[in-house]
Amino acid sequence: MPARGWCKGQGGEERVSRAERLAAASIGLGCLVLGLKAAAWWLTRSAALYSDALETTVNVAASALALAALRFAARPADANHPYGHAKAEFFAAVIEGVLIVVAALLIFRQAEIAFLAPHRLGPLPVGMALNAAATVLNAGWSWWLLRAGRALRSPALTADGRHLLADVVTSVGILAGLGLVALTGLRLLDPALAAATGVYVLWSGIATISASVGGLMDAAPEPAVVQRIRELVAENAAGALEAHDLRTRHAGRLTFLEFHLVVPGAMSVADSHAICDRIEAALKREMDHLMITIHVEPEAKAKQHGVPVV
Ligand code: ZN
Ligand code: ZN
Repeated sequence: MPARGWCKGQGGEERVSRAERLAAASIGLGCLVLGLKAAAWWLTRSAALYSDALETTVNVAASALALAALRFAARPADANHPYGHAKAEFFAAVIEGVLIVVAALLIFRQAEIAFLAPHRLGPLPVGMALNAAATVLNAGWSWWLLRAGRALRSPALTADGRHLLADVVTSVGILAGLGLVALTGLRLLDPALAAATGVYVLWSGIATISASVGGLMDAAPEPAVVQRIRELVAENAAGALEAHDLRTRHAGRLTFLEFHLVVPGAMSVADSHAICDRIEAALKREMDHLMITIHVEPEAKAKQHGVPVV
C-alpha cells in the first residue's frame, strides 16, 4: 500500500487541497500587495520603497514556486522515482534562495545610486499610505495563514505565514524610517533604509539556500528526532538482541530510516518479521511520513556500538 504513511487519517486529501487553495489565494493577494507597493515606489522614487516592493516580488514568485513544488512533491512514487518526489521541495527552495540573493543585489545597487546622487523624493505621504495599505493587507493575511496552518497542520502554510510576517516587520521599519525622512528632510536616510533592507534580504536568501542544500545532501533529521527513533526501536524490539548501523535522512516531509536488527540465529523468519512490524507500528504511531527498511541478522553479526534492546 503506497499510500500508507504519506497522508494519515481521514480527510487527508481534503486537508491537502484546502492548503493548496490557501496557498493559491496567497499568490493572488501577493500580486495585489505588490501592485500597491510598486505604485508607492513609482510615485516617490524612494530607494527604501523600491527595496520593499522588490522583497514582495520575490515573495510572490517564491509562493508560486513553493506551490508548484508542493504539488509535484506530493505525487506518489512511480517507476522512474521509486523513492518518491519529495526532493522537488529542496530544488524549489534553492531556486527561491537564489532569487532572494539577486533581489538583495538589486536593492544594494539602488541604494548605491540613491546614495551617490540623492534626488528629491516624490509625494512621500501618498507613497507611504499606499505601502501602509499593502502592509495592513499582508499583516491580516499572515495572521489568517498562521491560524489555518496550525489548524491544518501544514508546515508550508505556516512557513508562508511567517515569511509574510517578516515582510510586514520590514515594511513597518521602512515606513517609520520614511516618516523620519518626511519630518527631518534627511535624504540619505532613504538609501540607508534600503541598504539595511538589502542586508536582511541577503541574509534570508543565504539561510534559505543553506537549509535546502542540507536536504539535497541527505542531512540527518534533528538530533532529538534521531534520539527518539533510537528509544522507540529499543523499547519495541523485545525478542531481538541489538539494532545497529541506524541511518536516517530526510527528503522534504519524508524521513527515511534504515537499520540492522540482530536476532537469535534460530528465530524463525515469521517471528523476526513480527518484531519488525511491531517496531514499525510504534514508530509510525508517533511520526508521520516515515519510510522504514529493516535488515535482519543472526547474533554472530552483533556489534558493540549498536542500540541495545531493552
Ligand atoms: Zn549488521
Ligand atoms: Zn514486512
